[in-house]
This record gives sequence, structure tokens and C-alpha cells, in this order.
Amino acid sequence: MTLKSTADKGSQTLSIHAGEKIDSASGASTPSLVMSSTFVVDEEISFSANNLTSETPFVYTRWDNPTTQQLEHKLAVLEQAEACIAFASGMAASASVMLAQLSQGDHLIISNTNYPGTAEFARDTLTRLGVEVSPVDTTDLEAIGNAMRDNTRMLWLETPSNPLLRIADIAGAAKIARAHKALLVVDSTFASPMATRPLSLGADLVIHSLTKYIGGHGDAMGGSVCGSQALVGPLRGEALVHYGGVISPFNAWLIMRGMATLPLRMRCHQENALALAAFLQAHDKVETVIYPGLESHPQHDLARSQMDNFSGMIAFRTASPRALAKRMMRELEVIHYAVSLGHHRSLVYLMQTADLIGSSYRLEGDELDKYQSVAGDGIFRLSVGLEDSQDLIRDLDKVLQ
Ligand SMILES: *Cc1c(COP(=O)(O)O)cnc(C)c1O
Repeated sequence: MTLKSTADKGSQTLSIHAGEKIDSASGASTPSLVMSSTFVVDEEISFSANNLTSETPFVYTRWDNPTTQQLEHKLAVLEQAEACIAFASGMAASASVMLAQLSQGDHLIISNTNYPGTAEFARDTLTRLGVEVSPVDTTDLEAIGNAMRDNTRMLWLETPSNPLLRIADIAGAAKIARAHKALLVVDSTFASPMATRPLSLGADLVIHSLTKYIGGHGDAMGGSVCGSQALVGPLRGEALVHYGGVISPFNAWLIMRGMATLPLRMRCHQENALALAAFLQAHDKVETVIYPGLESHPQHDLARSQMDNFSGMIAFRTASPRALAKRMMRELEVIHYAVSLGHHRSLVYLMQTADLIGSSYRLEGDELDKYQSVAGDGIFRLSVGLEDSQDLIRDLDKVLQ
């Protein structure tokens, strides 16, 4: 009773069953949690990660683990990928891909606003190692084309992006990357595989922070990289076994359990987010609302064509954001004032412009003006959860005064 084919199954069936194996020893219907770090073998196996193949049996959990492997297979099916590796966190996945694929003298083009950890890793760590890094507005295909150099090895998109929910045209960017023989990597954390399958649009690798929508419950950190066997296979040896950012099998098990309801949760995240976006848009204390599902989003048409689900992330701007943030910390009853996103619980956080620009994005000139014209001194990032939308609206209405 494991799926014989996945091509003819719907996403609800796949989220529940894909990748899972019945434990032959116990017959357990639920995937077994195997916490063992090492495995008893009955044949000689090379101790070098360089000799690792997809046929190698389980040796040591830093190579692979029976519970983690089921998560990896489930993720590969949902992303329509040949192969997947799970990591300890989204940052472990992102940093591992960049380190394994980029060498001194290579050039990286990256969204000029995105997840702050990724932004700082590219600007500080990679440049220290001799990689050239060009942050560009990746919503602009012409800007991407103009930034391409002979040594451009990787184009890194995040879509929708943190915190302004800018949408990058994956298929358009893939054409440019291919023409320059550069790898296209897409951090699809905000979209989830229910909204967008970047590989089918021409991306080479897809990154997820499993900590967010895929795990979905705010209780386990993880990350993943999906793509072709030719690209992902070698990453297991170098990036997982040698850099060592391996996920705990317990976290893999929790994330796999969360994934079973991903399609149902994403539908509810979108429904609640549409209700909250409409409420915020109509509220006289709210100056700007950004949600890909609103017609007022500057790239709503691209979002419609590239996303099957607009996800649950909203950005909104008000006057005196710091005073409002203080009221939120004291007075919100349901929504948690906390970072992170994609959980069943709603979360809100003020992303202060001076903080982000100074520490992470370092924007100047037109790009700084463009950011500030949308975000002002700061913009609230609201991760709409699965509570009753009326309760969320009442909670926000109470603090918006
Ligand atoms: C959270 C996040 C990350 C980092 O993931 P962790 O699991 O927190 O390490 C990377 N990219 C995006 C878009 C994120 O939201």
C-alpha cells in the first residue's frame, strides 16, 4: 500500500500518501520515526561521501535516514522534482546551495529585497569568499538581463519576496538564465508548492524553509532543495554530508505530518487572507495593503498566472507604525506579535525600514526611493493563520485606532 503512480493523483492524496512507506517490521500505517544516528550494515560500504549513490543503504543519519527520506520523497513529488534533500533549516538549505555551486570569481545575481538571512549571507559571506554579488530588482526582467555577465553562474529569486511581496516572473527569468548558462534558483517559501511549481516554469533548483507553510505548525525547523537528480545528487555529498546541516528525523517526521494537510491549509490561508486584505483595504487607518490576490497589487496579473493560490502573506502600512507595534504587543488577543510565517497561528511583525535597509538590503538611490515609497518607515508583515477570519478582523480592528 504505497502509491504505484503519482501522475494520476490529486494534491490532497499526494500530500497524505506520497513518499510514505509502510514499515515492513511493524505494519504501522503512520511513517515510523527512526531516531537512530547509525545503521547496522551487512556489506562493505565506503566511508566517503564521494562514493555515495542513490543505491547506498542507510549508513549514518547525516547521509540519509529512513524518516527523512520519506519527507524528501514527499517533497519531490509535490514540487514535481526528480530529487530532494532536506536540511536543518531554510538557511542551511540556502547557504549550502550557494556554497556548493559558487566559487571565487563567479557572479551571483540576487533579488535586492528578500529574506534577510539570505541577503546578508550573499552580501557578506559570499563576497568575503570572492564571489561577485549583484543585488537587483528581480521583478524587472530587463534589470536581470542587464546585470548578466560572462561569469554569472547563478540567478537567485525569491517570489513572493520578503517583505513587500514582490513577484518575480520565473518563466521569464528562466529564459534569461538559460541563455547565459546560469542556474536559476527560486526560494518559493512564501508560495508553497500549492501555489507555484518553479521547476515546471524553468527553474533549476527550488528552496523551501519547511519551518513555514510546509511544516505549517510552528514547531519544527527544516529546509529543502528540490531539482534534477544531476544537480541535487552531488549536493547530498558536499552540502549535506560535509557542511552537516542535517535535519533531525524528529523534525522531518513533524514536518511530514504537517504536510498531509498542506492543500487544505493553503486554501484556508488564502480565504482568510482575502478577507483580511479586504478589511485592511477598507480601514481608514491603513494607508497601503499589499496582497498578491488584490487587484491593486502591482503584479496581480503575473501572480494570477504564476500562482494557483495567493498564499496567506499580507503587508500593510499605517501612520506611526512603532506606536501601533507597541499596541499590538500589548493588546492583540489572537494574533501573536512574532516573526516567522506560514503557521496555523496568525503572526504579525513590524519590518522597520531603517533596520532592514541598514543591515540587510543596503539600498541606495532609486532602489531606496522605490522601497521607501511603498514601505515608508516600516511595514507590517501579517502571516494570516487558520483561525476564524472574523476573530482576526476583530483583533486587528481593536488595535488600529
Ligand atoms: C524563513 C525563511 C528562510 C529561512 O528559513 P529558516 O527555516 O528560518 O532557516 C528563507 N527564505 C524565506 C523566504 C523564509 O521565509
